[in-house]
Amino acid sequence: MATDPTVKHDCHYHPGDTAKWHCDACQVDLCPRCMPDADSRKRRGNCPLCGSSLRYLAANAEVTPFWQRVPAFFRYPLKRDPLLVVAICTLVPLLLQPNLLGLIVTVVLILALFKYTYAVINHTARGKLEPPTLATAFTGDGFGIVFMQLAVFIMMAVILTTAGMLGGLFLVLLTAAFLVLALPASVILLAMERSITAAINPLKLAALMSRIGWPYFVMYAYLILLSLASGVVQDFTLRHFDPLISQPVAGFLNSAFMLIVFHMLGYLIYQYRQELGYDEDSSDDAAEDHHSPRDRSKRIDADIDIYLKNGEYSRVFSILKEALRKDPHNPARLQQMYRLLTAMDDSLELYRHHPRLLAMLSQERDARGLQTLLTVIYREEPLFRLDDPTLTVRCAEVLYQAGEFKSALKLLQDFHKRFPDSDQLAPGYLLVAQVLANGFAQWDKAVSFLTFVQRRCQQHPLHKDIDIWLEQARNQQPLKGPKARFEAVDRGETRLATGNPS
Ligand SMILES: [Zn+2]
Ligand SMILES: [Zn+2]
Repeated sequence: MATDPTVKHDCHYHPGDTAKWHCDACQVDLCPRCMPDADSRKRRGNCPLCGSSLRYLAANAEVTPFWQRVPAFFRYPLKRDPLLVVAICTLVPLLLQPNLLGLIVTVVLILALFKYTYAVINHTARGKLEPPTLATAFTGDGFGIVFMQLAVFIMMAVILTTAGMLGGLFLVLLTAAFLVLALPASVILLAMERSITAAINPLKLAALMSRIGWPYFVMYAYLILLSLASGVVQDFTLRHFDPLISQPVAGFLNSAFMLIVFHMLGYLIYQYRQELGYDEDSSDDAAEDHHSPRDRSKRIDADIDIYLKNGEYSRVFSILKEALRKDPHNPARLQQMYRLLTAMDDSLELYRHHPRLLAMLSQERDARGLQTLLTVIYREEPLFRLDDPTLTVRCAEVLYQAGEFKSALKLLQDFHKRFPDSDQLAPGYLLVAQVLANGFAQWDKAVSFLTFVQRRCQQHPLHKDIDIWLEQARNQQPLKGPKARFEAVDRGETRLATGNPS
């Protein structure tokens, strides 16, 4: 299938996103989100599905070609800010006295108008289709560009003269033809690179024209038509109206015409910014190392997304398994693994990966996720007991905070028999006491667990507050322990120490 580069294609996996890549083997279009590891500047990328190299779809596909928005170019000078600039810069000089001050003001206003037109080019070239503000014409630097343009014209005259001296009429005509044809390219180069030499360098001019290709000449034809039309209208007004009216009208039209032309040139740059190397995005990622870990991780994300949408769950599973083999505790990958296995309802794999998944879910304080996973685990293994005391207490604590009292208790069942020597015994049974008191109003049972901690865990840092806990339990108050203390070792214990059962 021949893919017309100027026609917009949507990404196969992200409808609504413009595709930038096409795999001829798989017949799929892919967007930058699918191809985070592709090099759009060098236009290299490999198909995530089959590995063959991708074809780069023209970057311009996402930009409306300029020939399809000609009416918008004509409306451009009629918006508020450009209209004001044109009005001030062409009408004010007509009201001035013909003296030195009047001359100076006139020159300044002409400079401001030209400065504004170059701002229009740069502004549009960045994809901003709203005109620059009025202030752009009168503030900041950038007046130099006008003198540079003047210098470019002088240089061109010098080149023509030199050509005449060297090669006679034929060479003059040839050079003149080239310069006339390259004039818009020269303005573009001057606006973008702010360099007189770039703007008269025949190699650069030719390269710019050939990179844009035939659309450059389409635009050229528009420019000729525009200038003819503008000339005819100005001529008409000058001929048929009183100079008092016709002069301002002609001046106004002339300035408006300039804005249209510069806006069009800016748009041409914007449309072909990648061909011309003015694309900020692609120069950024060209500087990046394409095999950085961040890049690989993005590639994995994109692959997962693609295969999920293709319904190839087992392939996603192997990608995740491989990624987790290299980076066993990556929370994002574990999260993806958890969601995938839950969606596939693969109890066996969920059970097999449960220690890391429980750790991730408790880290995220995802009580619902914990609850779901535990349900699956108990279904696989009704007598399931978690064999990591720290993880057990952490999970139970998250469940307790979320009001899942039964599940919290179930996790901590027979904790002192399973982990008699663990330093988690004190926080574990403190938690049990809290669940019993605050969750089930079983103060007596809470007291016996606290007494157990009092007797058995005398070395534990939590022990010194045990009297406060016991007093609260005996008074049948909510078990909160001592007021805010943050010296406990890890997050779970801190929560326990401040223990607000909300
Ligand atoms: Zn996509
Ligand atoms: Zn492919």
